[in-house]
Amino acid sequence: MATLKTHLPLPTADEAFQRLIDGNQRFLRGEARFPTVQKEILANLAQGQQPYATILGCSDSRVPPELIFDAGFGELFIVRVAGNVLSAEIMGSLQYAGSHLHTPLFVVLGHSGCGAVQAALETQQHGVQHRVRIQFLINNILPGLPNLDPRLPPSAQLERAVEANVRWTLRQLLETPEGQARMAEGRMKLVGAVYEIESGCVRFLP
Ligand SMILES: [Zn+2]
Repeated sequence: MATLKTHLPLPTADEAFQRLIDGNQRFLRGEARFPTVQKEILANLAQGQQPYATILGCSDSRVPPELIFDAGFGELFIVRVAGNVLSAEIMGSLQYAGSHLHTPLFVVLGHSGCGAVQAALETQQHGVQHRVRIQFLINNILPGLPNLDPRLPPSAQLERAVEANVRWTLRQLLETPEGQARMAEGRMKLVGAVYEIESGCVRFLP
């Protein structure tokens, strides 16, 4: 009987990180593997999942994590929400990935041209109030926005705000008792990244 995928040892955080980098490189070179459905793979996955990374990304249709990291079924545990913001439910999904699935790598993935971050800038700079539930989401982004130089071109302001929003989400995750405990153990890694929708390149933040 074939060994179940779920019984394979998990990669280390650094190995998982390299897999994402390699996957994005394949995607950029146009060498992504088409996600073919093989009955054997599905049967194995039916026994359980063992994703190597957890991604908190934006709902934007131009940023599908499996495609940009050239990942297959069962490889990525993904939470998508506009503006890659945190809330209690999203924290719950991430906690599940950490404590039950033990994914060694967590990525907060923002992207260029993010509409949610743009909307938050409009509130911050011009007091724009969006429709009530959208504003509720935007309010999660506001505390992490820096005061940007208004003389900067709008595109440069948005670029900085996108990166600041990723770092804000990272900081909130790190400040949870669980986040601190996991980091202290040293087995899990938390990184920020920005996907450039113009080029298809994922830029990991230093
Ligand atoms: Zn977005």
